Amino acid sequence: MTILRAVKGMNDLFCPELNIWQKVEKTTAEIFSAYGFQEIRTPILEELSLFVRSVGEETDIVGKEMYVLKDRDEKLLSLRPEGTAGVVRAVIENNKVGLDGEMKSFYIGPMFRRERPQKGRLRQFHQIGAEFLGVSEPTVDVEVIAMLHDLLSALGLQNLRLILNTLGQPEERVDYAKALYDYFVLHADNICSDCQRRLQKNTLRILDCKQPHCIKIAEEAPLIQAFLSEESLSHFDEVQAGLSRLAIPYEVSPRLVRGLDYYNRTVFEMVASLGLGSQNAVAAGGRYDGLVKKLGGRDVPAFGFAAGIERIVLLLAEQVDAAPANLLDVVLIYADSVGKEKAFELLYDLRRKNMKADLDHKGRSVKAQMRRADRLGSKTVIVLGEKEVQEQRGQLKLLSTGETLSVSLLGSAIEEALKIS
Ligand code: ATP
Ligand code: MG
Repeated sequence: MTILRAVKGMNDLFCPELNIWQKVEKTTAEIFSAYGFQEIRTPILEELSLFVRSVGEETDIVGKEMYVLKDRDEKLLSLRPEGTAGVVRAVIENNKVGLDGEMKSFYIGPMFRRERPQKGRLRQFHQIGAEFLGVSEPTVDVEVIAMLHDLLSALGLQNLRLILNTLGQPEERVDYAKALYDYFVLHADNICSDCQRRLQKNTLRILDCKQPHCIKIAEEAPLIQAFLSEESLSHFDEVQAGLSRLAIPYEVSPRLVRGLDYYNRTVFEMVASLGLGSQNAVAAGGRYDGLVKKLGGRDVPAFGFAAGIERIVLLLAEQVDAAPANLLDVVLIYADSVGKEKAFELLYDLRRKNMKADLDHKGRSVKAQMRRADRLGSKTVIVLGEKEVQEQRGQLKLLSTGETLSVSLLGSAIEEALKIS
């Protein structure tokens, strides 16, 4: 029989690695709620046209990375390649932008892009994202970047660099795109075939190319700053001043553009300087003031980002021993059938008190049960037999030191003993 395998680039996840994921997700919910963001969950399948209209037809994502399928009514659907489009669609459709015109949401979930799988790059990957709708003030850009910075610091990530740029407003980009065209057209024979296509359709995208010789040519390309209005420049100044006030370090990179079409003004990336190789972007985002209107809603400005959980977990696994040391508080070991009955009863009681307790169902020797407790990483064991059951007392043994403590065989007494041991 042929062996069934997961789809290429789509991983199964197991503990203890998954314990790191759980920690990341829990920390996200705690920190984001302190900033007033509430969770939102939207479908994984959406109409293809949603992503074509938002992410943009000329992007790599829509151009070559989408998982598209045809529904029975011939409608084209797609697995979501990113989260913002779905959130914006959901908010418009359900009229969720409140009376003050604001909404702060965050999401955690799988995204799908048919890329070449490698370290930190998968076909099913997971993102944490946040979207702040309804405010155009630059303090929002600062607040959302600060929230991401808080999350990554709370997780213990080190050596991250925040890279910032501004893309101005769409109308300011028209002249810039012309200037870029005039520059790159002179190098048309030396840029990659993708960039030759971008040259005609979406010149700005050339700056996002990862091919070394395209990067080299782009180094001499005109910079956007000269094409920006006073308002856009002062918005960007205020973002930088705000970050400085919060002592969040950043670098300005005038060539940072993003792989999605909907951004304007502030864009940023959080990049790891060690540990991820060329897949070094941990998070990215920016302002997308035009998207809500473009998707049929009111004129609502917005700012958001997405962070890749796989890349965060890779870094955490390298930097700290993030997996919890003791998986179990106590294993109940029995020497005979009377002991087993009592152990089973006590187990139920302990678990209802939220203690991580376990026993071996198979009736193996005390020695084998001991070995199993060790292997499972239990902090303690209690051995129960007829004698212990009669006396209603047993020995709680600390596996790390071998130390023992006499305890009464009551869930509450064991709970107390575990707290002090
Ligand atoms: P990259 O330049 O690495 O391809 P991107 O510009 O396509 O990233 P975004 O679409 O902005 O990335 O997504 C935000 C974050 O999601 C990235 O910074 C990264 O951490 C993560 N991410 C994006 N694509 C993948 C993928 N295929 N596998 C794993 N993580 C991903
Ligand atoms: Mg990409």
